[in-house]
Amino acid sequence: MPHSSIRQGYAALPARFYSRTQPTQVAAPRLIVLNRPLADALGLDAAWLAGPQGLAMLAGNQMPQGMDPLATVYAGHQFGHFSPQLGDGRALLLGDVTDRQGLVHEIQLKGAGPTPYSRRGDGRAALGPVLREYLLSESMAALGLPTTRALAAVETGEHVYRETPLPGAIVARVARSHVRVGTFQFFAATQDEAGLRALADFTIARLYPQAAQAERPYVALLQAVVAAQAALVAQWMLVGFIHGVMNTDNMAISGETIDYGPCAFMDVYNPATVFSFIDKRGRYAYTNQPTMALWNLTRFAEALLPLLAEEDTQAIELAQQALAEFHPRFHAVYFAGMRAKLGLVGEQDEDEALFKTLLDQMADHGADMTNSFRAFSHAGVLSGQQAPAGLPAGMAAGLAPWLEAWRARVASAGGADWAARAQGMRQVNPCYIPRNHKVEAMIKAAVQERDYTMFHEMLHLLATPYVEQPGMERYATPPRAEEVVPYTYC
Ligand code: AMP
Ligand code: MG
Ligand code: MG
Repeated sequence: MPHSSIRQGYAALPARFYSRTQPTQVAAPRLIVLNRPLADALGLDAAWLAGPQGLAMLAGNQMPQGMDPLATVYAGHQFGHFSPQLGDGRALLLGDVTDRQGLVHEIQLKGAGPTPYSRRGDGRAALGPVLREYLLSESMAALGLPTTRALAAVETGEHVYRETPLPGAIVARVARSHVRVGTFQFFAATQDEAGLRALADFTIARLYPQAAQAERPYVALLQAVVAAQAALVAQWMLVGFIHGVMNTDNMAISGETIDYGPCAFMDVYNPATVFSFIDKRGRYAYTNQPTMALWNLTRFAEALLPLLAEEDTQAIELAQQALAEFHPRFHAVYFAGMRAKLGLVGEQDEDEALFKTLLDQMADHGADMTNSFRAFSHAGVLSGQQAPAGLPAGMAAGLAPWLEAWRARVASAGGADWAARAQGMRQVNPCYIPRNHKVEAMIKAAVQERDYTMFHEMLHLLATPYVEQPGMERYATPPRAEEVVPYTYC
C-alpha cells in the first residue's frame, strides 16, 4: 500500500497527550495542488496521492486502513496571556514518514473538522488562508529558511462561515515535529512531571538526539532550541518576514517557521511594520521578533524547570546562560547574513555601523527592502562603475558617502572578481518574495472565480526566488500607494 509508510509515532506517548479523532467528511473534494517533489522526497507515492484514495485521505473523507489520526493537546501564551488548554482545534496528525536521510516528518491536515480542542471553532479553514499558507511556506523553503512545508491543498466543496460565507479548503502540512513551546507548557501547567519528561525525551529523540548524550540532556535540549530559534528569527529578519502571531503555541521546538496566519513580507523597510489586524499594539512587529522569541524561550525554560531541577544544582544556572546566549546567537546569524547580503568578506569592526546607516537610510526614504539589496548585487555597483538602480530619489541623493565607505569595505577583503562576488550576493538577496498585495490578488482570484492561474504562477516563480525570470517584473515591483495591503487576517 502506498501510504503504508505513514506511521503514528506520536501515539507512543501517553494517551493524555492527544485525542484520537476522525476527520469530518466534506461534500465535494477537489485537489487544488499536490507538491510532487515534496511527496517524492518523503517517499510518498505522488500518483496515489493525486488519485481517488489519496484525495479521500487529503480531504479527510476516508482514512486509509490502519491510519490513526489524532489531535494533540497544548497550551500557550496568546499575546502574553496564558491559555491553559488549546490543542489542535482544526488540525489532525495523520502520522509520520521517514525520508531518505532517515529524518522523520509529520503530516497534518489543517481544516479537516472539529476536534475535542476546537472550543467554539468549526475546525475548518477557508480557501484564502490555505493558499496563503501553501504559497508562503513553499516560498520560505525555496528562500532557504527552516519551515513547515505544504504537501497538498484541496477544496472541500463546502462553505465555512467567517464574517461571510467563504469557500472551504484543507491544507496538508509537513513538519519535522509539531511539538511547540505550548506543548511543554501544557504539561508544566498541569504539574504533570511524568508527562513533561516523556515529552522532553520524545522531542530529544526525534529532533535533537545529540542532547541525549550530553551530561545534562534537558539543558542541552534548551540550548539546542535557543540556537535553532535564534537562527530562525535572524533569517526572518534578513528577508523581511513578519510572522504575525508569535504566540508560544505557534513556536515549534524544531526551529521551523510554523502557523502561517496573518504573516507577510514587508515591502518598504520599516522596523515598526505590523500586518496582523488583531495585533493592535504591535507586539509582533518586525523589529520585536527577536525580543518575542526570547520571551517565548523563557517560557519554554520555565516549563522545563522541574526537569532541570532534577538534573543537578548547576542545571538552572546553565539554563539561564542558555537564554542569555539568545541575543549573541541571533546577532551572529543576523550579521553574517547582512555581510553576505552586502558582499562583505570577513568581519570588521565598522560593519555593524555600515549596516545601521544603510537601514536607517532605507527606513527614512521608504526604500523597498528586497529591491534595495538586489540593487547592490551587481558587479558594476560593487566596482563603482555604476550606481545602484531603483532606490528612492531622496535616498540615492544622499547615499554617496555610504557607497564610498561600503565600496572601500568591499575592496578591503575578498578580491576583485566583481562578477563572482555579485553573483554570491544575488544568491542571498532574492528578487522575488511573496509580496502581500500579490498574495491578496492571488487569493481574490481563487476565492471569487476559482481561478488558480496566479497561484500556480507565483508558486512556480517563488520556487527559484533568486533567479530573475523575463516577463515577471510585475512580481518584483513594490505596490503603488493604492495597491498596498496593510492588513492581514488569520
Ligand atoms: P492560531 O492563532 O492559528 O495559532 O490558533 C489558536 C488556537 O485556535 C489553536 O488551538 C487552533 O487550533 C485554534 N483554532 C483556530 N481556528 C480554529 C477553527 N476554525 N476551529 C477550531 N479551532 C481553531
Ligand atoms: Mg497555532
Ligand atoms: Mg493558525
